[in-house]
Amino acid sequence: MKPCFFDLDLNDLSEVLKGYGEPDFRTKQLWQLVYKNLKLSPEAFPAVPKELRLKLAENFDFAPVQVLRKVVSQDQRTEKYLFGLQDGKKIEAVLMYYRERITICISTQVGCGMNCAFCATGQMGLTRNLSAGEIAGQVLFFAQELSLTEKKLSNIVIMGMGEPFHNYDNVMKAIDVINHPDGFQFGERRITVSTVGLIPMIEKFTKAKRQINLAISLHAPSNKIREQILPVNRKYPMEQLLEACQAYVQTTRRRITFEYALIHGVNDSVADAAQLAKLLHGMLCHVNLISLNETKKYAGKGSPAERANDFRAVLDRAGIPCSIRLKRGVDIGAGCGQLVTQA
Ligand code: SAH
Repeated sequence: MKPCFFDLDLNDLSEVLKGYGEPDFRTKQLWQLVYKNLKLSPEAFPAVPKELRLKLAENFDFAPVQVLRKVVSQDQRTEKYLFGLQDGKKIEAVLMYYRERITICISTQVGCGMNCAFCATGQMGLTRNLSAGEIAGQVLFFAQELSLTEKKLSNIVIMGMGEPFHNYDNVMKAIDVINHPDGFQFGERRITVSTVGLIPMIEKFTKAKRQINLAISLHAPSNKIREQILPVNRKYPMEQLLEACQAYVQTTRRRITFEYALIHGVNDSVADAAQLAKLLHGMLCHVNLISLNETKKYAGKGSPAERANDFRAVLDRAGIPCSIRLKRGVDIGAGCGQLVTQA
């Protein structure tokens, strides 16, 4: 398999070009062609000598994600893409149109090893990590698609298939590539990364003091409930998780998001809400409630709107900022936790 061109950061690219005996200015020229002008293959580099174009095409893969299928939701506002990777593995990613925003939800692994009971990706297990180039490649693909109709990406959520903090270095490298000031310049504040709660990685992320938004999949007010649905809780229990979250907020002064999928009769009572409010009291945070999307291998059902509203009211009264997330793309299996492929 050829290495992916988008795996290279600016230094890596400079090294490669030096090795080819290219002049220094070539690095920045190529970087800008690709990441500023979205010329995503050597054929699209007319200003570059043919010999170099051929060499690059021979040595690097420029199309890490290939569209195998695209499905559009009934309301036309959510699109799900099935991508094929170079080794034949498959991932999904989602594009969502909001009123004035366009958000993509991208994947970081083929499958996932976290085994969350209610998540279709978790149910398929982990096949492999995506490379930085495969992660950045999803962003570049969507950016190019949108540019055809003069539209621009507003937000990226790293919440597709996989546990981003289980593939930390590649995820951060991909963000560095798309964030680079000489290139695509996608601001970290418009990127959100979501983790099931891998504490050592949250600590590492805190130390890195990045501007990327952090979301934590909490989904329960107690260890007793959480470990039933998120097996990772046995390794990283809630007290320690919340401590790491508090340290993140204190160090970065950034607000943290907690995701909470409401499962009827499991974690959605007003008593659960009260317990959650107590846990989060005083923390700079926002709670994102979503009624569980149903998946094949999990019997639990999403909470009805009434119960979600009651839950929310308890948090409201306790002064915990929260919202009920709009459900998107459920009719095409593009909702949270519904992404799955045959690996
Ligand atoms: N591995 C990351 C990203 C996962 S997907 C993480 O755990 O945070 C993004 C969010 O969707 C997570 O909060 C995840 O717990 C949630 N989710 C998974 N399955 C779901 C389902 N069936 N219904 C609603 N949300 C779900």
